[in-house]
Amino acid sequence: MSGLWYTEKQTENFGITMKIKRTLHTEQTDFQYLEMAETEEWGNMLFLDGMVMTSQKDEFVYHEMVAHVPLFTHPNPENVLVVGGGDGGVIREVLKHPEVKKATLVDIDGKVIEYSKKFLPEIAGELDNERVDVRVDDGFMHIAKSENEYDVIMVDSTEPVGPAANLFTKGFYAGIAKALKEDGIFVAQTDNPWFKADLIREVQRDVKEIFPITRLYTANIPTYPSGMWTFTIGSKKYDPLEVSDEHFHDIETKYYTKELHKAAFVLPKFVKDLTE
Ligand code: SAM
Repeated sequence: MSGLWYTEKQTENFGITMKIKRTLHTEQTDFQYLEMAETEEWGNMLFLDGMVMTSQKDEFVYHEMVAHVPLFTHPNPENVLVVGGGDGGVIREVLKHPEVKKATLVDIDGKVIEYSKKFLPEIAGELDNERVDVRVDDGFMHIAKSENEYDVIMVDSTEPVGPAANLFTKGFYAGIAKALKEDGIFVAQTDNPWFKADLIREVQRDVKEIFPITRLYTANIPTYPSGMWTFTIGSKKYDPLEVSDEHFHDIETKYYTKELHKAAFVLPKFVKDLTE
């Protein structure tokens, strides 16, 4: 692919394009088509089934916003589960919270873990940390087997096609509620409001039927289609908008701040409409 432009097509008429410096690895795994490439603008990038998963240059936005919003909302997140997330970025951020005693990562595809360690070492570097338990398994099945176990669950999955399709269902959210402790909280990446409005509306509706507190927040991620990404929170007890100032402690971040924690929930009207 050297010198070629790579396009992730979002619709028949729109895509997001970057210039490839060289291909590092391509492989059809048991679950998806995996590509690792060095790009001119964004450093090394991981693509699955033709979709951008992460880039060395902007990965911090997504990984910080998945991890720190729920972890600073929960007063004592000791036992954490990441569903998907085989690149290790969310785990790296989770471990910045000293109160987390154990973080389990369940990704269906061991090849994502293997090649992230090789080509995205600063993202995957904490996967071998002693507080982390890495399992290669279907997140849906893992959730189905778990009960009253986790304080915080983060769903860092691919888009709702292929192996991740059942991670966007009401049955999965009901399973998450069962897998969480009585004051647990979960977050899931829920794609972008420009092209996936129906998906966001549906997830919000499903999560609201299961969790007493349901919220939507956004982050700006240049390599994801439209640049605007959403995250849905379902919480049994703690509201991410009511975290008191003294609850935040200092951690090293490049995007997340305690001010942004709340500001991220202020939505443009067309996005807010998807939550109603
Ligand atoms: N940040 C990315 C995004 O939003 O575009 C997603 C990161 S990528 C690491 C997502 C991971 O979810 C992939 O490694 C994939 O193997 C995993 N995944 C997909 N379906 C899954 C399932 N059913 N159970 C566990 N992991 C799954």
